[in-house]
Amino acid sequence: MAQGWRQLDVGVIGGGIGGMSAAIALRRAGHTVTIYEKHNFAGEVGASVSCAANGTRWLHEWGVDIAKGDPVVLRSLINRDWKTGKPVSTFSLDDYEEKWGFVYNMFHRQYMHAMLKDCALQQEGEGTPAKLLVNHACQDIDLKAGTVTFKNGVQAKHDLLVGADGIGSAVRGILGIHPAKRPADSSCLHANVSTDQAVRLGLVDYSQNSALEYWGGQDGTWDKIVLSPCNGGKLLSYYCFFPRDRGDYTTQAWGAEDRPVEELLAPYPELDAQVKAHLAIGVEVQPWRLWVHDPYPYIQKSNVCLLGDAGHPMMPHQSQGACMAIEDAAALGIIFNKSYFQGDVREALEVYEKVRLPRATRVQAAAAKAAYNINERIGFSANKDNCVTYKVEDEKKKLTIEEMNAYDMYKDVEEKLTSIRGEKFLAPYIAGLPIGLEMPNGVTVGA
Ligand SMILES: Cc1cc2nc3c(=O)[nH]c(=O)nc-3n(C[C@H](O)[C@H](O)[C@H](O)COP(=O)(O)OP(=O)(O)OC[C@H]3O[C@@H](n4cnc5c(N)ncnc54)[C@H](O)[C@@H]3O)c2cc1C
Repeated sequence: MAQGWRQLDVGVIGGGIGGMSAAIALRRAGHTVTIYEKHNFAGEVGASVSCAANGTRWLHEWGVDIAKGDPVVLRSLINRDWKTGKPVSTFSLDDYEEKWGFVYNMFHRQYMHAMLKDCALQQEGEGTPAKLLVNHACQDIDLKAGTVTFKNGVQAKHDLLVGADGIGSAVRGILGIHPAKRPADSSCLHANVSTDQAVRLGLVDYSQNSALEYWGGQDGTWDKIVLSPCNGGKLLSYYCFFPRDRGDYTTQAWGAEDRPVEELLAPYPELDAQVKAHLAIGVEVQPWRLWVHDPYPYIQKSNVCLLGDAGHPMMPHQSQGACMAIEDAAALGIIFNKSYFQGDVREALEVYEKVRLPRATRVQAAAAKAAYNINERIGFSANKDNCVTYKVEDEKKKLTIEEMNAYDMYKDVEEKLTSIRGEKFLAPYIAGLPIGLEMPNGVTVGA
């Protein structure tokens, strides 16, 4: 055990995917955790969330019961022609687990959330079960005293506060970060389709592919349909993007009244008839407001840090928002564990920022690029030699699967910790990546 290690009383503000993950990681590191959630989870979003190996690896390390999330294990990424539906670019995930040690899961958001919540709160498992207090909306934090005030009048004091309160974070503003943000050039409507119903109507059974499938997304156009099978393939979750001037939902929130299906079909007169027939039986059609946030200058202050969308909200086009929140949580779990934490919360949060901000903002920028060019999306970005429409902005800067999955967070934490303590870091890694690793963008780590 590190000299000076002490048990912290941690308050996590926000009980979403990132907040639950932080609670799991920190209870396992030996701390007591209280989660404060504004809602009571009754209005959770009914859409899919993918979890690539860089997220799944932590679910395994934490002993999360992944079967509870009823995931689909993805077998490929398929990009289809907008009008004909013929594959234009595919990326096989057949050797994914063998290569990266973990599968690529597609969850239904509610199932994923319940799976994480159970793990955070249950008696079984390492550490003290976290406590969850719903209907606690954070209103203010006294940064000097470390006291939080909730809208219901309750006050609480903690050694460490984690602001995991999502894209509209209150904690972020309290830390003095007021983001430069603008509405995205594209809009998105989400719809759910029951696989059974589609099959009964004689439509294509897309669940059979176990693939994340895309129509369009090439040539700098905003039109793109993203299909993700979840709930073991029983549900098809469709994200439908189109230019904002064909429908502006920037001020709408999830949970408002469903939009009529005609509104979903209207922007797509030329779309492949097979997938359009699926959209025509779509239910729970909900707008997803899309805002582009520039990277934040910092993500911690005093005894408070930001995590997940509160710290680095990103466009959905790399499917990495949830994974980045899980990685943030993993970083806290490591930095505050019994080997590294010497009792100094300020030092620990500085290391957290040094580990998380560069990696998350790199993914954030890559997600914005992939919004109008699917070739920038991890996976498709490796298809330089086998996709006729392949084109990226800068070959050397594209994000690759290697950078995401060959990353060793323990090494990254050690590098930043030794630097802050004025010690030497001797392992052959730079920012968590092994020196000598050749990536498909032509960059060799450390060259
Ligand atoms: C429809 C949709 C689809 C997505 N698909 C993917 C995907 O395929 N892959 C992927 O990796 N990511 C995906 N994402 C992104 C991913 O869900 C988010 O990046 C991820 O949930 C971030 O987790 P979070 O905990 O930061 O935020 P959230 O999960 O949004 O949780 C924030 C929590 O904080 C609570 N809260 C807010 N304000 C307060 C307050 N003042 N006090 C207390 N609590 C508060 C909220 O009620 C909420 O429970 C998707 C997001 C959406 C909306």
